[in-house]
Amino acid sequence: MNIIPKAKNFKENGNIEISAEFSADERLIFCKKAFLRMVSKLYGVRLTDGDDGIKLVYDEALDKDEYAIKGASVYASDYEGARYGLATMLQLMEKTEDGFTVCDTEIKDSPDKDFRAFMTDLAREWHDFDNLISYVDLCYLNKMKYLQLHFTDDQSWTLPLACFPKAATRGRCYKRSEIDYLVEYAYESGIELVPEFEGIGHSKELIKNCPDEFGNVYDEEIEDSSVENSVEAGKVGRVDNIMCIGKPDIFENIRRMLSEIAEIFKYSKYIHVGCDEAKHENWNHCALCRDYMARQNLESTKATYSHFVKKIIDICLSLGKTPIVWEGFPYEGTENISRDAVVISWENIYQSGPELIESGFNVINASWSPMYIVPLRKEPIKTICKWSVISKNWRVHQVQHHWNASKAYGGLELTPREKVLGGMLCQWECKMEEERDRVILNLPQVSDRTWNAEDFYSGEEFESAKEKIIALSEKLI
Ligand SMILES: [Zn+2]
Repeated sequence: MNIIPKAKNFKENGNIEISAEFSADERLIFCKKAFLRMVSKLYGVRLTDGDDGIKLVYDEALDKDEYAIKGASVYASDYEGARYGLATMLQLMEKTEDGFTVCDTEIKDSPDKDFRAFMTDLAREWHDFDNLISYVDLCYLNKMKYLQLHFTDDQSWTLPLACFPKAATRGRCYKRSEIDYLVEYAYESGIELVPEFEGIGHSKELIKNCPDEFGNVYDEEIEDSSVENSVEAGKVGRVDNIMCIGKPDIFENIRRMLSEIAEIFKYSKYIHVGCDEAKHENWNHCALCRDYMARQNLESTKATYSHFVKKIIDICLSLGKTPIVWEGFPYEGTENISRDAVVISWENIYQSGPELIESGFNVINASWSPMYIVPLRKEPIKTICKWSVISKNWRVHQVQHHWNASKAYGGLELTPREKVLGGMLCQWECKMEEERDRVILNLPQVSDRTWNAEDFYSGEEFESAKEKIIALSEKLI
């Protein structure tokens, strides 16, 4: 019997039979609801209160986020540890006629990295609300801690906000009641949501729906081609998807949005504010932006881009949330941006992971290869993106890219290691049926390699270790 992620200390003794019962120490009782829900979904059994089944035991000797298992008892000193121990128990159980067989183990385990995440793009392709619930469950099973929701982009705006109701894409926006339900559901499950409002660039839909508040007023018509994918990143195009920095109330309007997002996602530590791939040269073609740059003594659109990023980050910090941004803002002006912001290293073209760390940022490793799940619709992406995390030997302390224009082509080490908060598997541009199987297969690999920075499964070991979690995942989504 092997579990995912690989446990740091694991000993197997055989099997024990237990009843379909559950008991928990009062100090950890909060974890009961989500666990019972998962047992019900995975095994079709509703556990009843009783001492002859799985026990959740408080053990103050265990560290924060740590758990231990002995037989059918899970030990922890906090909710995080308890949740991880219970998630492991889901893999050790087998249903019998009148209860469960549990693999009798001795485990003591804790994660190496805090930011173990999955991100799903909800703006390029519509995802039914039920899919979001399934992803919370999948994160629970894989002991991931964060689920990032990419709510907004050029193609649609899916996050309902009372402060800008007209921002929402008609027929492609979640209901506020659904989001409220999701927030509570994730909280009970111990999964922290990271809401993403993609700011500055990637704002075509917002600008279309709220032109007076966010749109540039160009001197001449701007070519309205669609946004190129990341292979084209770095090119400056005349794509009208960038917010106007010269609008009189632009920062007040962004503050209103972020305030409401902070209020809705009340349990979340982080808000992702986007900030990548902004076609900043467009600001030269808008009189309002030219005036703003002159008033602020901003000498270039690159410096203006960093200025805009700094402003958004500062708003987020003033609301008591930690901002996350994509790598993509220019080097010029970076010195003014708060180092309390966390940067996701993905393309390693604009500023590489090592460069971002060197300049004082904490980073999250979402390096394109192999952490991006994208549609396999045409070559060369079709071939390139079939790889798995294991086949690329991805590690949380190394960024990689298949493209030789990236500084991470061939791999780059990330040091010092404490500046790497973790890693994130990202689903981009896929329809649910395109991403489903790849998420199910890749999530356990990313789980293993963010939980364990060094001692993770090899490809061969993973083949047998994955069987149970893959079978369970199939029932959740
Ligand atoms: Zn403008």
